[in-house]
Amino acid sequence: MQDSELNTLFAQHDIMPTAQRLEIARILLGAPQHLSAEQVMQRMHDAGSSVSKATVYNTLGLFAEKGLVRQVIVDPTRVFYDSTTVPHFHFYHVDTGSLEDIEPDLLPLSRLPRAPDGTEVCGVDVIVRVQRRS
Ligand SMILES: [Zn+2]
Repeated sequence: MQDSELNTLFAQHDIMPTAQRLEIARILLGAPQHLSAEQVMQRMHDAGSSVSKATVYNTLGLFAEKGLVRQVIVDPTRVFYDSTTVPHFHFYHVDTGSLEDIEPDLLPLSRLPRAPDGTEVCGVDVIVRVQRRS
């Protein structure tokens, strides 16, 4: 992804571009993928960056809050950042600790319970946990 595209995306999501934010966005948004903060940090270190853990965590948190990436929480110790922000669901591979997308139309949610009075559904998260057959 070109820096000009990233700068446009940042402006659309009301994010101030800094060198480190651009660097993190380049890694995460370079492909449709799900990365943990640790994986983003590893890739940055591999590329010779000396970014701190706090900066990576804060930046990913900001990106998620601003809707630039989607946060997928498998459990409190496994949080992924998804470069695909359109609604979709996930398989979680217990053996490998990785996520795989499920197309939304493969999981019809027409039988969702009606939202409680005075509320409306604003999002549905589905994580289907799978493991290799023994
Ligand atoms: Zn995904």
